[in-house]
Amino acid sequence: MQRFENRVALVTGAGSGIGQATARRLAEEGAAVFCADLDLDAARATADSIGGGSVAHACDVSDEAQAEACVQACVDQLGSLYALVHMAGILRFERFHDTSAASWSQLMGINLNGTFFMNRAAIPHLKESGGSIVNASSTAGLAGLHWGAAYAASKGAVLALTRSIAVEYAKDGIRANCVCPGDIQTPMTRAPAMPDMPGREQLIRISSLDGPKGPEVVAGVIAMLASEDGRHINGEDIRVDGGTLS
Ligand code: NAP
Repeated sequence: MQRFENRVALVTGAGSGIGQATARRLAEEGAAVFCADLDLDAARATADSIGGGSVAHACDVSDEAQAEACVQACVDQLGSLYALVHMAGILRFERFHDTSAASWSQLMGINLNGTFFMNRAAIPHLKESGGSIVNASSTAGLAGLHWGAAYAASKGAVLALTRSIAVEYAKDGIRANCVCPGDIQTPMTRAPAMPDMPGREQLIRISSLDGPKGPEVVAGVIAMLASEDGRHINGEDIRVDGGTLS
């Protein structure tokens, strides 16, 4: 399939996990990929490995000016923007009653404000290309998460933001959707837990399929959503969790 031939995709969080797998998948399907990440070396490693005219760019998505500059650099260097795949995010486990305002703000700054800044900057370019947005929500945005209230709140807000963009810009031909991954094996989910956390099986409900999967299972869904195959899907949140929340 070459669903992204002559198309430009901007992927945030492209240096790791789901963002990296999606950058690779979109490039395999013909896209020129603008690989953005906080870590320039990681973004460069992804861009170098996928080739196809891909470009690496350093960006802290929680910084308004950097987010806007990132989108502009994508259009300046690759000529247009057809798909914004916004995967940059952080997960932190802490007890809710111990959560400081600073910790809450940092998490919201990256997961929610970063989505706001990147999506807003992309809209004018997506109007021109008739393209779409895929944001990273989570099963935690749909159900509660032990030791993860701030994270779950940020991902629930990403869902509401995405649906609002979907209805507001449908008349402009722009679609906006979310993926809600669950228990995907990436550096994020391999991070050490807190010493007194319940076991993994208590933190995440057990998948109805045969255990956790790698980020490529989410990348395939994102590619479908961002492609012509997803042209009648708008304001949707697609769980990619093996049925965990079913
Ligand atoms: P990951 O492997 O940790 O990748 C996240 C990437 O985002 C990293 O490259 C990270 O860079 C980057 N990043 C962090 N803060 C950033 C910032 N301020 N600006 C730009 N980039 C930043 O995680 P993942 O599992 O692929 O997760 C991708 C997305 O899916 C996240 O939004 C996550 O919340 C969501 N998600 C994942 C799962 C799962 O099971 N894996 C489940 C639900 C939702 P550094 O490494 O340099 O920090």
